[in-house]
Amino acid sequence: PGPLSERGPAKVIAMCNQKGGVGKTTSAINLGAALAEYGRRVLLVDFDPQGALSVGLGVNPMELDLTVYNLLMERGMAPDEVLLKTAVAGMDLLPSNIDLSAAEVQLVSEVARESTLQRALQPLLSDYDFIIIDCQPSLGLLTVNALTAAHKVIVPLECEFFALRGVALLTETIEKVQERLNPELRLDGILATMYDSRTVHSREVLARVVEAFDDNVYHTVIGRTVRFPETTVAGEPITTYASNSVGAAAYRQLAREVLARCHAE
Ligand code: ADP
Ligand code: MG
Repeated sequence: PGPLSERGPAKVIAMCNQKGGVGKTTSAINLGAALAEYGRRVLLVDFDPQGALSVGLGVNPMELDLTVYNLLMERGMAPDEVLLKTAVAGMDLLPSNIDLSAAEVQLVSEVARESTLQRALQPLLSDYDFIIIDCQPSLGLLTVNALTAAHKVIVPLECEFFALRGVALLTETIEKVQERLNPELRLDGILATMYDSRTVHSREVLARVVEAFDDNVYHTVIGRTVRFPETTVAGEPITTYASNSVGAAAYRQLAREVLARCHAE
């Protein structure tokens, strides 16, 4: 990774795919932890009412009084009141829980409803180098808010049948947000996840993804391993849970690629 001479304002990354179970939350946690290991100040935003990102960092969402929902919906709410430290040095969390599901409905009547998250994150940009937003599996208003707040999108794609199904709709949504709401938005990359090198099938899907997206596919490929579900139970990133594992190495490599793409701009 490059020198730390360049500090913030934060690059905001949306981890986005309307399909569930493709590795968005796992990638948000572990890319964030790897960037923090490289000395970057990282904020993870749990933007899924399921709260899986919060759970993955050892937080019980049901016990929270204040979440990203309050930051989003209550004017004058200070981010500090909602922010939590994580066990990873340099990485903080804006947690969420089921309260956030109400925002999807309440935002509809809001003025400039698509840029509500962008406004809420604005005061935090100078405190971090990266803000990573873990999106819910839909292309609804919450996800549009994430894309409007973001500079870059990372799209995790599972190396499985039908992985490419739905990607055209996602790409279209990204382009619409870019045209109408956020001209700065760029696709940073497609991340192949749950790759199983032992199966011809996984290799074929990866080849098809590379064929379709070319340079937009990260060189890093995340292998399928039971260590990831284990980390959810442990409530910590793989970079600390199994620091020497192949999975930890993969997310460190992804972090270096993301940093390289930032430096190339
Ligand atoms: P999403 O946020 O897109 O719904 P998750 O990151 O929650 O996806 O992953 C879905 C499930 O798959 C979780 O149980 C997670 O632990 C598991 N998982 C994620 N990445 C991998 C991987 N590379 N190998 C094996 N299991 C994985
Ligand atoms: Mg998720």
